Amino acid sequence: MSDYKYSIEAKNVNKIFFKKNQEVKALLDFSISIKRGTIHGLLGPNGAGKSTFINILGGLVKKNSGEVNICGINIDKNIKLSKFKIGIVPQELNIDPFFSPAELLELQAGLYGVPKRERKTEEILENLKLTDQRNAYARTLSGGMRRRLLIGKALVHNPEIIILDEPTAGVDIDIRASVWNYIKKISNEGRTICLTTHYLEEAENLCDNISIINYGRKIIEGSKTELLNIISTKSVSFVLEKNLMIPSELNQFNPHLKDGILKMNYDKNKTNIKKIIDILIRNKIEFKEINTLEGDLEDVFLKVVNNNVRTNKNNI
Ligand code: ADP
Ligand code: MG
Repeated sequence: MSDYKYSIEAKNVNKIFFKKNQEVKALLDFSISIKRGTIHGLLGPNGAGKSTFINILGGLVKKNSGEVNICGINIDKNIKLSKFKIGIVPQELNIDPFFSPAELLELQAGLYGVPKRERKTEEILENLKLTDQRNAYARTLSGGMRRRLLIGKALVHNPEIIILDEPTAGVDIDIRASVWNYIKKISNEGRTICLTTHYLEEAENLCDNISIINYGRKIIEGSKTELLNIISTKSVSFVLEKNLMIPSELNQFNPHLKDGILKMNYDKNKTNIKKIIDILIRNKIEFKEINTLEGDLEDVFLKVVNNNVRTNKNNI
């Protein structure tokens, strides 16, 4: 049972909701394979189906069809066991306001049947920098503290997989960095992490592999590097020694000259920067600085999601 390659494996999952007698196809033949020990990002715009998938993993939403295995356990055959393998940090900050962080962690441990001597309440509070708040009412906690407490709740039964649904939505920028560090820490402990986000910066910073989902369908999946390679346009700018005429040889790179800075775009699969520099040298154009800019995950996201919008317009 413990010999599995994928911590989470879903095959052709479908989920249809009914809203005011209207069908909402939240997941359409959705498949995903999340490798053990990795940080996997599930990216997609609002309403794409990310939370639906997570709720299916946690047994909160019932799929209509398809197969889901968690640590090699089929959730339809043993939801009780599969639930033990995952800790879910929900999107909403719903915390019972009248309990303190320490009480909430103890309660959660009790729910999962963790024996008292095996509980790690103090360690979790310490790791999440909530020791000072251990006895405060949860309603007095800030948004960032609540988010950290929810991460703590997901950790009490020491699950192999942690799933975070929009872990930094509505979290201040400085707290975001500390949540990221904590996610990296629990990943380094050997856990598999799956997180949803619509912040591309978050995925770029944290994830090894990424799936992009839109209208309930997975539109692309790969390593971060593979996805970034989809964007083959790079831009380069030269800070010139003096303003000059642009030689026509450079027209293929769509040149723009402004305030002594010459900007161009090129396809990194077809040309390289040396070729451009050679043209400048040949034309005796002197420069004192070169800056290059790679496409980022945001470019990838816009490219694949926009294509998908065009092909899926009739499918909503
Ligand atoms: P995401 O988390 O990517 O923003 P969701 O999974 O929450 O997306 O939602 C996917 C789609 O399913 C949306 O159109 C949403 O309105 C719909 N949906 C989600 N939950 C329900 C529900 N309980 N009842 C009806 N429709 C729902
Ligand atoms: Mg969601």
